[in-house]
Amino acid sequence: MRDFIITYSIEDRLYLNITNRCTNNCAFCIRKTEHGVGYNLWLQKEPSAEEVMASLRGLEMDAYSEIIFCGYGEPLLRMDLVIEVAGGIKREYGKIIRINTNGHADLIHGPGNAQKLKGLVDRINISLNAQDSVKYREICRPAFGAGTYQAVLNFSKSCDGIIPDVVLSVVDWPGVDTVKCREIAQGLGMELRVRKSS
Ligand code: SF4
Repeated sequence: MRDFIITYSIEDRLYLNITNRCTNNCAFCIRKTEHGVGYNLWLQKEPSAEEVMASLRGLEMDAYSEIIFCGYGEPLLRMDLVIEVAGGIKREYGKIIRINTNGHADLIHGPGNAQKLKGLVDRINISLNAQDSVKYREICRPAFGAGTYQAVLNFSKSCDGIIPDVVLSVVDWPGVDTVKCREIAQGLGMELRVRKSS
């Protein structure tokens, strides 16, 4: 059953659910679990930028430490909406903005996407998910195929120096070598976060 939950909160963080589409099909995706995140994030339709901004009105925005684009899907599939909404949130509320992404933006839209987020996004969490291309394809089953892992690394590098806080993440999943993943992140001068699977 579908709903139209655009915003949801966890502790003091406010999340924006803008699409259910994704260019990965990860084995551990929370969308596959019965409990999900505790909200029904399956959208009847994708919200417009106006609908996202309208969903914020009436919320106690001061209560949130950051606003995060992260729902049941890949937010940067909707790059134009992210730019518009992030700009609106910065202007109206001055909040810290984070994007949780699979890092496929340049495969989806062509090169140069990190630059488009400059000044709008404060933090980006990019799912590295594996220590190499073979394991990545096995676990994430990307729509873009063999070159995707390298593209995620390239996108991560392109964010460095443009977005103030760039973090890579992996899910603790069978076959994922978190030590090697940490070495890769360190090689890029970035922090690695290891998340537990749902
Ligand atoms: S990238 Fe995220 S939303 Fe997409 S399939 Fe993987 S875990 Fe799910």
